Amino acid sequence: MNPDHTQESPLVLVVDDEAVNRLILESNLKRQGFRIVSASSGQECLDLTRREQPDLVLLDIIMPGMDGFQTCQILKDAPETRDIPVIFLSALTDTGVKTKGFEAGGVDYVSKPFDAKELLARVRTHLTLRNQERQLRVYSEKLEEMVDERTTKLKQAEQDLQRNFDMQTALNQLLHLSLQELPLEELLQQCLDSILGITWLTLQNRGCIYLQEGEGDVYRMVAQRNLPENVQVQCATIVPGQCACGKAIAEQRILVVPDEDVEHNKLSPEGVEPHSNICVPIRSQHATLGLVNLFIQRDTLLTRQELVFLGAVANTLMQMILYKRAEQRMLHHVLHEPLSNLPNRTALLDGLNVEIKQARDMEGYRFALVLINLDRFNRFNESLGYDLGDKLILSSIQRILDERKAEEDVFHLGGDGFAVLTRQLREVADPLLLAERILDGLKQPHQLDGHEIQISASAGVVLSDARYDHGEDLLRDADIALHLAKSRGRGRFEVFSSMMHEKAKHAMQTFMDLRLALQREEFVLFYQPIICLTTRRTIGVEALIRWFHPARGMISPLDFIPLAEETGLILSMGRWVLEKACRDMREFAIVIDGEPPFMVSVNLSGKQFAQSDLYEQVEAVLQETDFPPECLKLEITESVVMENAEAATRILERLKGLNIKIAIDDFGTGYSSLSYLHRFSADILKVDRSFVSRMHMGDENLEIIRTIVTLAQALNMEVVAEGVETEEEVKTLTVLRCDYAQGFYFAKPMPLEQLVQGSLLGKGEQESDRREGPPDRRETSGRRDTDE
Ligand code: C2E
Ligand code: CA
Ligand code: CA
Repeated sequence: MNPDHTQESPLVLVVDDEAVNRLILESNLKRQGFRIVSASSGQECLDLTRREQPDLVLLDIIMPGMDGFQTCQILKDAPETRDIPVIFLSALTDTGVKTKGFEAGGVDYVSKPFDAKELLARVRTHLTLRNQERQLRVYSEKLEEMVDERTTKLKQAEQDLQRNFDMQTALNQLLHLSLQELPLEELLQQCLDSILGITWLTLQNRGCIYLQEGEGDVYRMVAQRNLPENVQVQCATIVPGQCACGKAIAEQRILVVPDEDVEHNKLSPEGVEPHSNICVPIRSQHATLGLVNLFIQRDTLLTRQELVFLGAVANTLMQMILYKRAEQRMLHHVLHEPLSNLPNRTALLDGLNVEIKQARDMEGYRFALVLINLDRFNRFNESLGYDLGDKLILSSIQRILDERKAEEDVFHLGGDGFAVLTRQLREVADPLLLAERILDGLKQPHQLDGHEIQISASAGVVLSDARYDHGEDLLRDADIALHLAKSRGRGRFEVFSSMMHEKAKHAMQTFMDLRLALQREEFVLFYQPIICLTTRRTIGVEALIRWFHPARGMISPLDFIPLAEETGLILSMGRWVLEKACRDMREFAIVIDGEPPFMVSVNLSGKQFAQSDLYEQVEAVLQETDFPPECLKLEITESVVMENAEAATRILERLKGLNIKIAIDDFGTGYSSLSYLHRFSADILKVDRSFVSRMHMGDENLEIIRTIVTLAQALNMEVVAEGVETEEEVKTLTVLRCDYAQGFYFAKPMPLEQLVQGSLLGKGEQESDRREGPPDRRETSGRRDTDE
């Protein structure tokens, strides 16, 4: 096709065997601006038509040799000339000839002799037609081309879509995997398998995934597929920057390592087809968490789409890793004590349950639990500061860790509580020896920040027993044994026995009853007279609580005060005692008003003493009962005061502001030294019964009392001797110039009515044997002590 047709004037081929005809036609057409070529025979016409590609042929019908019809037929049969319009020139006018001409493919006739106008009109018409036709063809060809192009594009888009879909599916699959409750490394292995299974990626079916070890600089291979053994060994760990993978990690970008890379090639053993590698770092915001290394076909360039996909894969893996790590951290948090990072109480219960199951499944399997608690830790903690307290805990844990063996796990139960679980117990004595070793180890002084701190610990031991179904029960029993160790003097351990369990159950029942006792008005106050040793007059009384249990009869405070302390019931109970004592005395005072004022002593427990509104409570009771403050004496034991000497000093001073008196109870049994004494604004010291009752045994106790009396006098304090039982004791105390005495020798604690009726003011002796039973249990049980 001649592209210039539109610009150039049309070319017309004139075919006629008669030269005259040709001349006429040529001159006519030329004059109208056509270009002309001419031929004198059919054959010449064919040659010229092929060569010149005219826009139109004027063809004579009757020619020697090949006639016009034949020539036309041949032109129409050949594709390159088929479209050229042919107009026949004929002297014949009958329709039969015309029909033949149309059949041969001609488009028109021009009759000889020519009419110039007709000729031109016909030529022009057909040229125009031809032109239009040609344009149409060009247009339709273009259209076809366009359609083709669109179709390929559509196909491409469709393929892209399919891949996108595949990618999404693959990524979804990875996300799905990450929801499984599997260890991270197993998840990564599954992810790797799943990535390598995607067929449209130009991958070989080999690769591996690295994971950063801790926060460190080493990346360890945690998943691999089809890697030759030597690669697995040599590339087990990588360091940032050192090899191609290391470089991808250090530079945080995807790296394609070509086949020629020596480092990678030397690793490829026989039987592995030549390949390139692609190293895709798994990045989080700040760090490279790991790396995916895939074998790709040799020298392939990954498409953009593939690269984007691998980037998305790395991103998904990143999220999976971060998620799993957060999960692990949370789990760790749930099962560990933050201070020590040791497994905690929850972990211990899990461990105990595992052991209980093991013991049930396996004949003869035994285990043991040792529960350890520092003695009076709170005192250290408060006086030295929590910082040093924490250090003391950590140092204690180290001592325990030093003693344990492989099959023994150490737990930190929070604060100063620890536990050791012994699995596969061989000898029953083992946990006892372990407890002994641990307590000995803890007893050694701790050097902390230049302080030398000495502290003891107590322990409770439980041996496995078929009775146990739950870890909680075992832990509870260890706790009971531990408590017993504390109450038996601390710095020791006790092994749990079922008898203890009975006792604990009993304590539980007592606690339940105790809660109701106040409402049911089962408490009563007894009063024990306090005698002046010089005048032998009763100068006051100590209020002592009694519990009349509907079923068990009278219960000694020794049996319920510690429990009330532990459970907090002491607070309401204590308040009741204070109020009741004041009211009782108010009545009583009508009878015994005198000078010096008659005093009532009320005991305050440690918990009561620690109440922040103690001052307000006492003040309120004094007001409500209209009780003269100078007649009230509060007794606080030495150990409570010493628990936190500084705070105690402040509280005591404040209380003194109410114009009441303060006595330090059980003096001599606690930890305080006489040198502390001057710090407390106390008025009275009560020397503990243990010194009084042993005075006769040797000079030492006697000397202690003498020293206490001397010192008290120097500090302007008065001394009361507790538990005076014999005439001899009274004499000795008088000689020692002790001010007052209290004890069975003078009178036992008694109900209010008896006190009033007895009118024992000043004597007291005659009342001594009427009330409470023999002092049996008090002799043996002594003060019960619970820790902190
Ligand atoms: P405490 O304050 O040292 O009370 C003195 C205890 O010694 C009383 O025991 C008393 O009966 C006993 N006692 C007195 N004279 C003699 C004696 O000559 N020989 C012997 N063997 N014992 C004597 P009780 O009443 O059993 O009280 C025991 C402890 O219970 C008290 O020791 C006190 O710490 C506590 N307590 C009693 N009542 C209350 C109270 O209302 N509130 C508080 N917080 N504690 C109380
Ligand atoms: Ca007392
Ligand atoms: Ca006492």
